[in-house]
Amino acid sequence: MEREDSSVVFRNRHSTVNKEGKRNWVYALQPKGKLYQYRTWLSYVYIVAFFGMPFLKIDGNPLFQFNLLEGEFIFFGSLFTPQDFVMFGVGMIIFILFIIIFTLIYGRVFCGWVCPQTIFMEMVFRKIEYWLEGDANKQRLANQKKWTTELYLRKTIKHILFLALSFAISNTFLSYVIGVDQLFTIMREPVSQHLGGFIALVFFTGAFYVVYAFMREIVCTVVCPYGRLQGVLLDKNSIVVAYNNVRGEPRNKKKTTDGAGDCIDCGMCVQVCPTNIDIRNGTQLECINCTACIDACNMMMEKVGRPKDLIMYASENAIAAGEKFKWTYRIKGYSFVLGVLMVLLGVLVVTRTTFDATILRVPGQVMQENADGTISNLYRIKVTNKSNKDLPYRLVSTHPGVTIERIGQTLDTLRGRQLAEETFFLKVPANAVKKRKEKYEIVLMSGEKNMAEKSAVFIADL
Ligand code: SF4
Ligand code: SF4
Repeated sequence: MEREDSSVVFRNRHSTVNKEGKRNWVYALQPKGKLYQYRTWLSYVYIVAFFGMPFLKIDGNPLFQFNLLEGEFIFFGSLFTPQDFVMFGVGMIIFILFIIIFTLIYGRVFCGWVCPQTIFMEMVFRKIEYWLEGDANKQRLANQKKWTTELYLRKTIKHILFLALSFAISNTFLSYVIGVDQLFTIMREPVSQHLGGFIALVFFTGAFYVVYAFMREIVCTVVCPYGRLQGVLLDKNSIVVAYNNVRGEPRNKKKTTDGAGDCIDCGMCVQVCPTNIDIRNGTQLECINCTACIDACNMMMEKVGRPKDLIMYASENAIAAGEKFKWTYRIKGYSFVLGVLMVLLGVLVVTRTTFDATILRVPGQVMQENADGTISNLYRIKVTNKSNKDLPYRLVSTHPGVTIERIGQTLDTLRGRQLAEETFFLKVPANAVKKRKEKYEIVLMSGEKNMAEKSAVFIADL
């Protein structure tokens, strides 16, 4: 790969495009160091969780499911339907605020440590490549020469493994959408019965394969909208992977100590970088905060007997002031807001009811005076059982003397994930009616459990 004076050209061109406008294939050296080790351990947890979670169930519901097609979502075993749109709205606002505040404080740490793209790319696919084709330098040399039969064979095995893994990832993603049971049904039954599911599988397998085999860092530097937003989300107080230019400059290739900086200009931080940038040029849109350059530079600093953390997690302002990372009031304040948002969402989820209903007076109906001394209004209730199970159901009035008389086809059981309707009279003793319009609470019970409370507007012709 062609190297240029990165301090001059980095602003004028994309890090993975060369002067001729062609792709500069990145041969990133495998980092060695504490942070890479932590990322490796985290990736084990992540990969086990990613492939294992679709099989975990609570009360027959998957732990998580995101059925965008039918607008149904399951979080920690609780089903959320389109009726929960208020919670969704609030949840989305909280989520967006969370992303903004989190990025403002902690920069792009999500990209380097949690994003599935980085985890699978750096911890799975690239490791397979190192295993089959050797380290970065060996790969570069082999690709520049005429390919040998052995190299063809190794590359073929690599691409077969990439395709197989992409197929596994795509199946797992699909199981987060339609559930693992439905996925197994699709696998067992003829393709013709599940053409949509089959096409989705083929499409996503192909997409993941292209992403991990060819697009790679371009997903982070060009495609990902979160990556594109960094320019507006970060400021000089955001914590990012940063080069301590105060300590490092002027660069000192001869490794002497005569007034020069600590950077020995070895270029290791660039060679390990999966997006091919030179972090010494400052914070850049392409930096995914993977911390590979921190490990690489720490290794070099150890070798030349200088203090570590020439590249580290720090804000630009902290580096300019010569400070190490510290919990400033700003970080504490924003973290507090983040905590409050999380609690708010938690409260919304915990206080959410299993039954949801709307009660409306039947249009065109006027009040009725009954022989038993009551006045009645006629209502239609639409009720959804948001759980996965069939549950007993009845309506109860909480007001003394006010009764409910269900008519027509009445409901005793609500089927899981189903919307049902019935009609009923609300009967109020005539002598208790004081206003023309009044609200009466109606409790939706399942056995002895209060599942939800709704009000019915009662109109009397006084
Ligand atoms: S500059 Fe460092 S942290 Fe940023 S992507 Fe490159 S190696 Fe990772
Ligand atoms: S790895 Fe450290 S010492 Fe080497 S060029 Fe990068 S910043 Fe300088």
